[in-house]
Amino acid sequence: MPKRTIVKIDEKLCNGCGVCINPCAEGALELVNGKARVIKEEMCDGAGVCLGVCPTGALSLEVREASEFSEEEVKQKAKERDNMNYIPQTCNWCGITEKDAYLLAVKKQGKALWICSKCIPKIIHG
Ligand code: SF4
Repeated sequence: MPKRTIVKIDEKLCNGCGVCINPCAEGALELVNGKARVIKEEMCDGAGVCLGVCPTGALSLEVREASEFSEEEVKQKAKERDNMNYIPQTCNWCGITEKDAYLLAVKKQGKALWICSKCIPKIIHG
């Protein structure tokens, strides 16, 4: 099995808030028994987008032996997702949804927030 970068979840730090689930474009993360889990390591590309939104620091990247990333697994999961009721994230500043604006994950004083591209300048400049 090849070595590659993959997400690591510290179960002790994970509080099961679920904030990391939607940012994973591959759908590799799910909540299982109240904890975030990589449901199939073939679906985690190790990009680490989820790391920035975790409020507890439970997510990190590690290099270890893992099954190779599989686009086919991701496509299959995407089909399953299309058949589910998806709840869009909203900007924590103005309330606009991700359907109408790009949302970016930001952190302040340990709190993870979604902020839309329109509100980012307000946060930067006050
Ligand atoms: S964002 Fe962090 S604390 Fe919340 S479910 Fe994901 S890993 Fe757990």
